Amino acid sequence: AKRAKDTGLVEEYQNQALAVARERFTMETALRAAIENRELRLHYQPICDLTSGKIVSFEALARWTDREGREHSPTDFIPVAEESGLIVPLGRWALDEAARTLAGWDHDAGGNCRVRVAVNLSAIQLQRDAITTLLDTAFSRYGVAANRFTLELTESAIVSDPDRMAAIMNELKELGATLAMDDFGTGYSNLAYLQRLPIDVLKIDRSFVTGMLADRDKISIVRAILSLSQALGMRTTAEGIETNELAQTLAGLGCTYGQGYLYAKPLDAASAYALLMPSTADTASSVS
Ligand code: C2E
Ligand code: MG
Ligand code: MG
Ligand code: MG
Repeated sequence: AKRAKDTGLVEEYQNQALAVARERFTMETALRAAIENRELRLHYQPICDLTSGKIVSFEALARWTDREGREHSPTDFIPVAEESGLIVPLGRWALDEAARTLAGWDHDAGGNCRVRVAVNLSAIQLQRDAITTLLDTAFSRYGVAANRFTLELTESAIVSDPDRMAAIMNELKELGATLAMDDFGTGYSNLAYLQRLPIDVLKIDRSFVTGMLADRDKISIVRAILSLSQALGMRTTAEGIETNELAQTLAGLGCTYGQGYLYAKPLDAASAYALLMPSTADTASSVS
């Protein structure tokens, strides 16, 4: 009887694995078509100076509504894009689209727009694509210089090939880009690389920020990250700020920037521009 039961479990496992594989494949096929047909969009979420409350940059976040009108979360489709290699065309598109949008804002603001745009780069994209060339292309196509970009990398990007990553990051710095370490504290943190790499900003992961006011452990982790980044001469962005109290506490602790629903959810390009330039937004036209 035990044997039969085990066989049943194995079968069930195989069926489940098959269902997961099918779902992935379906998503991969749909995602490939979505990239080709330009069905992806970028939304923009403000990152604010915690002391002045001023918007310093916008993080560009991929959005995908499929043909049946279903909205897919990037936490689902980015991993599929990474495993299938689709992250390369997706990542190229994201950088190009962010540059195009920024050029539109610059144009509408008539030279009064200093905001930056932060683009997420995945480890696989960094290994397989020439990011520095993409920044050159953004400049020649849209006139947007590399110093208007922040590039957000995760710890996994560095762990996979530290020497090569260091070389790429140094090149990006030389072009003038700002480099941010995303989701800091959630990955495999080798503190030695932090000191060796030209990282400008540490982004404290939302999981440490949410509920930190009522959790001694979380607040200790946040304090530790803040003192580490200060010791290394880096700035910090806290993700997932949803209340004023959190913003004030983090500012008091010396955190530089904040991002979260308190300021705004990720917005389409026109709404982001309206938030940035409330007085000129009515007359703006070129941002779609
Ligand atoms: P991330 O880079 O850490 O981006 C921050 C995520 O936190 C976003 O989720 C944002 O909507 C969410 N968020 C911001 N503030 C709050 C808040 O106050 N409360 C809550 N609950 N959430 C908040 P989103 O847009 O779902 O993106 C998830 C992840 O997908 C991103 O995490 C990033 O790792 C990845 N991703 C998105 N777009 C791209 C892309 O174009 N390329 C790559 N490689 N990855 C991307
Ligand atoms: Mg990010
Ligand atoms: Mg993040
Ligand atoms: Mg995060």
